[in-house]
Amino acid sequence: MDKEIFELIELENKRQNIGIELIASENYASIDVRNACGSILTNKYSEGYPNKRYYGGCEVVDQIEQIAIDRACKLFNCKYANVQPHSGSQANAAAYKALLPNGGKILSLVLNDGGHLTHGSKVSFSSHLYDFVFYPLDKDGHLDYNMILKIAKEEKPDLILSGYSSYPYAIDFKRIKEICDEVNCLFMVDMAHIAGLIAANLHQNPTLYADVVTSTTHKTLRGPRGGLILTNDEKMINRINQAIFPYYQGGPLQHIIAGKAICFKEALSDDFKKYAKNVIDNTKACRDTLYNLNAIVSDTDNHLFLLNTLHSYNLTGLQAQKKLEEINITTNKNMLPNDTLTPKETSGLRIGFAAVTTRGCSNEDAKEIAKLIHMYLSNQIQAKEAIDIVEKLTQKWKKIEEI
Ligand SMILES: *Cc1c(COP(=O)(O)O)cnc(C)c1O
Repeated sequence: MDKEIFELIELENKRQNIGIELIASENYASIDVRNACGSILTNKYSEGYPNKRYYGGCEVVDQIEQIAIDRACKLFNCKYANVQPHSGSQANAAAYKALLPNGGKILSLVLNDGGHLTHGSKVSFSSHLYDFVFYPLDKDGHLDYNMILKIAKEEKPDLILSGYSSYPYAIDFKRIKEICDEVNCLFMVDMAHIAGLIAANLHQNPTLYADVVTSTTHKTLRGPRGGLILTNDEKMINRINQAIFPYYQGGPLQHIIAGKAICFKEALSDDFKKYAKNVIDNTKACRDTLYNLNAIVSDTDNHLFLLNTLHSYNLTGLQAQKKLEEINITTNKNMLPNDTLTPKETSGLRIGFAAVTTRGCSNEDAKEIAKLIHMYLSNQIQAKEAIDIVEKLTQKWKKIEEI
């Protein structure tokens, strides 16, 4: 046994158990998902797709991957799925390749307003392979569909991209599809953050409108770390499959694909629907409590909201993130719409309730967390007292290894 590594895993287990995890992109996978991911399936090579492999001995993993595909299609009400992307970023790379085989112009959200690095950042492959142009949020931080239409008419993109990393409101995919039809371009949705809410029918389903939908499986969907691509178009799934293997990836991770299959089954259950509803209710309860304490916050329709720490507490996002870490509350600094500070500092935090709700955080707990954040960031409570409150909350919740 490798003591050095296993002791570190134990330390991380402890960190996860004693902390209040409010990073909006994180969650806790179930013990079944984790057992599949740690299984002997990691030993198997299976380049290709079910019944079309480049290796022998794939008769069992063929069945696992086919079950994962079928469940993904059932969960998101669509015809075709590729469950092999190693991450959301790989899924996006393959989706772009399938949609725009010869390159082209993509219209996506201004990155500082909530887009992901793979949506055209200078430091990502995306901006090197495609010509990105951007639409901003309005001054209140909402999507402005008329503005998207106006920019689309001027820029004539080949593809409009929706789906974001720090957008706290519902997205009208139907409306964006109408814009795509009006300017005659393709439509892609990256639902990485809100996939769990869509699975629970608590958000408009983009598979009804988009040519291709990509996702991660480890955020609100609560599965193993990985990616997913969906479409209703037979020609498109063939191009997507080729873009994943052999273009961008080699052998698929069958242990992770088994974990994804389990995650999709869990997400089809009534329990998961209740969970997703609780995530939204808890997020709203925390946000409303902060608002009533006169903090400057976005509103929220989903699993996250933005807290303007600069104007609420005279702390940059980075300072607030570090300060909350002192009392075992994990968040992440985030650019706010029209932020005046750099991405390294930022003016605020992104706060999400997908992870703590999995542990059993109640509506009352969510309000208590809001008060605690407010009191600590405004120096009305000592660290020791705050840590005690965090400890009481986390001890009431499920242990990470029992989820
Ligand atoms: C998290 C995220 C991704 C990327 O996921 P990774 O698995 O970290 O590569 C892509 N798009 C959006 C919108 C995301 O929020």
